[in-house]
Amino acid sequence: MVLDILTLGHPTLRKVSEPISRDELLGDACQQFIDELIETMHHTNGAGIAAIQVGRAQRICVIEVMDNPRYPYLPALPLRVFVNPQLTAIDERTAMNYDGCLSVPGIRGEVERPLGLRVQAWDRAGNEFQASYYGLAAIIVAHECDHLDGQLFVDHVKDPNTLCTWEMFDQYYRQKEVEKWTAIQAEFPEAERIER
Ligand code: ZN
Repeated sequence: MVLDILTLGHPTLRKVSEPISRDELLGDACQQFIDELIETMHHTNGAGIAAIQVGRAQRICVIEVMDNPRYPYLPALPLRVFVNPQLTAIDERTAMNYDGCLSVPGIRGEVERPLGLRVQAWDRAGNEFQASYYGLAAIIVAHECDHLDGQLFVDHVKDPNTLCTWEMFDQYYRQKEVEKWTAIQAEFPEAERIER
């Protein structure tokens, strides 16, 4: 079932999500919820989605990028479910990115994010894993994990002049953005490295 996505202004989006226990994670209700979260991400062409975006304040988010029409310049990323994720920056460099968000329909804006992140999390079976993400992949992971702390990309937009509709993004900023990211991505041979 495709779930309804909460949008900017809904108070629930500002909640700090709670960690989930292994018992609850492994239960049928939560496993079905994760399936629905993934289905909702696919249906809306999101590069990721967090549980709180459909009203469930638990520390679960998913990412996946496969020929995404919303973001055709993103690197391919396999489906990952992060449960109780913890992030560490592993690259001191940052880059500006025009974030977009299923909960902020129609709007993009420029946000500064680290170019490398390590994630420690459980997968949906409750197994701990560690993975590193680079370039745009790190930006997607940071964006999704921000949702778990009640944050939206608009909180991090330093220059309000960069706020734009997707239409204006395509018209005025997209080409530069794609050129910039193509150069940055060339530095990172892989978007994701599973460490354990
Ligand atoms: Zn979002």
